[in-house]
Amino acid sequence: MQKKDILIYGAGMSGLVCAINLARDGYKVVVRDREKEYGGDPLYNPSTHTTPIDVKKTSEYIGIDVSSVFYPLIACPFYFHDTKAYAPHSGLYTVERGNRPTSLDTLLYGIACKEGVRFEFNSALKKDQIASLPANTIIACGLTPSAYDMLGVPYVRWYGYISRGEIGFSNYSWIWWDEGITEYGYLSSANNYYFNLLFSKRPISEATLAKYRAFMRRNEGVEHETWQYATGAVPVASPANPRLFHENLIYCGTISGAMDPFAWFGILGALITGKVAAMAVTDRGKAMAEFARFNRYFKLAYLFKNKVWYPAIRPQVGMMEKALLLVGPRNLERFAAKYVHEGVHIPFSIPGFAHLGCY
Ligand SMILES: Cc1cc2nc3c(=O)[nH]c(=O)nc-3n(C[C@H](O)[C@H](O)[C@H](O)COP(=O)(O)OP(=O)(O)OC[C@H]3O[C@@H](n4cnc5c(N)ncnc54)[C@H](O)[C@@H]3O)c2cc1C
Repeated sequence: MQKKDILIYGAGMSGLVCAINLARDGYKVVVRDREKEYGGDPLYNPSTHTTPIDVKKTSEYIGIDVSSVFYPLIACPFYFHDTKAYAPHSGLYTVERGNRPTSLDTLLYGIACKEGVRFEFNSALKKDQIASLPANTIIACGLTPSAYDMLGVPYVRWYGYISRGEIGFSNYSWIWWDEGITEYGYLSSANNYYFNLLFSKRPISEATLAKYRAFMRRNEGVEHETWQYATGAVPVASPANPRLFHENLIYCGTISGAMDPFAWFGILGALITGKVAAMAVTDRGKAMAEFARFNRYFKLAYLFKNKVWYPAIRPQVGMMEKALLLVGPRNLERFAAKYVHEGVHIPFSIPGFAHLGCY
């Protein structure tokens, strides 16, 4: 087979999955990234993420065994203020991002190099290049606001505080809800590394950060010395965000809108759309059908979050806390465990989770 050239912008997880699949199909793949090496934006990485995923089925679908870098969570308490209950954590995993030896990116980058993929770092996609990109150029630029601006992808801006470093435990997470933020605070940990993010659609006050830090000390006995201010983008601004094609370009990973519009989980959607974008080069129709299948619940979850959760439920953290105390955290845990066990699964809106047959 005569090899054709394919250009991919973005050497993150979805760009690498796409590159590996196309290289195996006989394409001559060049991946360009704006950073000086693989591992993504140093504002976000190294980091550890927590995500619902069926690792075996996902590995089979993308054609790459990622089981060595996903770790089952040992526990994931959730808190309304200081009131705690344990979320059912079967199906939840942690994974490391960035360029440390134990990360998902290191695994994928190593495989891509072995498959003959060529990398050009310090090569950012610029707005004036877009019109002249070859057909089927793949855009896998993740959650970078400037990339969304130049491509006209609708996005929600988030603001937050990040802390990261070594911590002395692994595969443990928590989630915290409070009125000071529209989203949540969470810690994720893997390979003795942690990533803690407090984030919101509105800029977060120092008082809310102080409240979160006091909560952590009191309830988890954890304190971080340094916090970094951060802002970013998520493609959940419109029910029509999921998009595989844009003019002659193919979108891949989170920039395609393959993200859970409720809790903003992006890992699984990025992995599977890496495969779908590779498919789009050879079979547009099949790729479109797969993309639609994986993002089928986006609109429903988008509407629930914007029409019900934000206006009616999310501001009532105190009410949720009272309800939890009334029901009793243990009773809620037993109820949730029974329903998860019996096949009612909350993460239906995570692209790929329901549709890979994870339940
Ligand atoms: C702070 C934070 C915390 C998160 N936590 C979680 C979590 O706990 N669980 C979860 O499921 N999801 C989480 N997500 C979402 C998840 O990380 C993303 O959805 C996923 O990493 C996106 O993968 P991707 O392949 O699309 O992009 P990425 O892996 O981000 O890769 C994008 C690549 O594009 C490059 N790039 C950007 N702009 C350009 C340009 N102009 N030209 C060339 N290259 C460019 C970047 O350098 C990067 O290497 C989080 C996201 C962030 C930002």
